[in-house]
Amino acid sequence: MTNEELWQTALSEIELSISKANFITWFKGTAILSNKDGHIIVGVPNGFAKEWLENKYNLYILRAIRNIQEEVKSVSCVISTANAENPAQKEPLVDAISAPKRVLAGENTALEKKLSLSRENNLNPKYTFDNFVVGGNNELARAACFAVSQNLGQTYNPLFIYGGVGLGKTHLIQSIGNEILQKNPASRIKYIPSEKFVAEFIEAAKTGKINEFANHYKQIDLLIIDDIQFISGKERTQEQFFHIFNHLSQSNKQIVLSSDKPPKAIQILEERLRSRFEGGMIADVSKPDFETRMAILKKKALREGFSIDDESLGFIANNIKNNIRELEGALNRVAVSAQLSKRELTPGYIASILGEIISSGKKKGITHKHILKVVSGFYDINIDELLAKNRKREVVKPRQVAMYLMRSELQYSYPGIGDKLGGRDHTTAIHAFDKISKAIKIDEKLLEEIASIKDQLYSIV
Ligand code: ADP
Ligand code: MG
Repeated sequence: MTNEELWQTALSEIELSISKANFITWFKGTAILSNKDGHIIVGVPNGFAKEWLENKYNLYILRAIRNIQEEVKSVSCVISTANAENPAQKEPLVDAISAPKRVLAGENTALEKKLSLSRENNLNPKYTFDNFVVGGNNELARAACFAVSQNLGQTYNPLFIYGGVGLGKTHLIQSIGNEILQKNPASRIKYIPSEKFVAEFIEAAKTGKINEFANHYKQIDLLIIDDIQFISGKERTQEQFFHIFNHLSQSNKQIVLSSDKPPKAIQILEERLRSRFEGGMIADVSKPDFETRMAILKKKALREGFSIDDESLGFIANNIKNNIRELEGALNRVAVSAQLSKRELTPGYIASILGEIISSGKKKGITHKHILKVVSGFYDINIDELLAKNRKREVVKPRQVAMYLMRSELQYSYPGIGDKLGGRDHTTAIHAFDKISKAIKIDEKLLEEIASIKDQLYSIV
């Protein structure tokens, strides 16, 4: 058996035991360089992969190899670029477009003004790796972002970070920009939320300035687009983005994207873009466990110079679980109230300060309209369809979820719920509530869906 056969066989086993994102990230561009005296040396593309493979995946690798060659005793990694793919040569430029015309500097600025293409990087300096607490929920995403910042355009391109609201995506992807900026203030970095990108494109199209728009983006070294899911359904923006994307990746410029869902779950996304998004590194952030929530609170309290005991922090961490933005908001609120009242912090006192956050949505000013908006956005259907009389399969579930939430979060009466959903009978509302309440006990996917809808709901007010 050649080294290559051995490695391919081992990889096919490893692939089954770890997530696809992890597999692609850490095993892409690896190869067995030598296999001597029970010791295997694996060549990896960078120091980052070396560290990760040796520390996190050593056992997986060893087990997989020993299944094939029992006599192997150890595996170590060395950095070797021989086997790494050169991203620049990965594939020919599909959809090549003619080379951009040179735009004179002065002209460029004037056009940019009109187009409101800001030259600013839009980075918030507070989002750094130093300020980011690492936990099991974000370890991979953090590692991938850090790797990218150490090896711009070379390691994982594009880098795609996804996860629910308030879990640190924006913080992480901006940290890359701030890290690069610190090392090289001259690098051209741009952070932009996708809605803004879409708006800029529309403006450019209206004023016949699509070339300028495209050229502006093609000159960037690190392009970070936040919440890329909002590009869904925006056909022309997608087309233009595809060209920009190709141009940047061909020139080894880094692209970083974030989204509330993985590429395959983004609706109305051109297939060629989806496959680009999937072609790099994908990592998710999920909800932090208690320990991580505590660490985040402690770090934040320390930074703000707010002294608070562990029990009080624990009380906050126990009550706010789904969203780090809310967790931080809660701590701020407690800090401000404590300073003003000069009262001792007790769980009871903290509970009264946080009453609004901890208790039901009604007090937070959430209405049935918010629910309709978030549910329809989540399932990608029109609010009108939710309210309509038809019984199309794809709207029946979202409609029932909306009714369920009006009951569970707002404690609306059943006739009231029927009314808010286009004048339905109260028995329909009862049926919907019962059905979803039962379904979430057995259907994990639905439970997840409802949890993320709630997340969105509580973060819009
Ligand atoms: P998202 O973009 O996923 O909605 P953000 O990146 O805006 O979330 O994070 C929300 C808030 O929580 C920000 O203030 C961010 O600094 C903070 N935050 C999120 N995750 C962490 C973490 N692991 N450590 C420290 N702060 C965090
Ligand atoms: Mg964000």
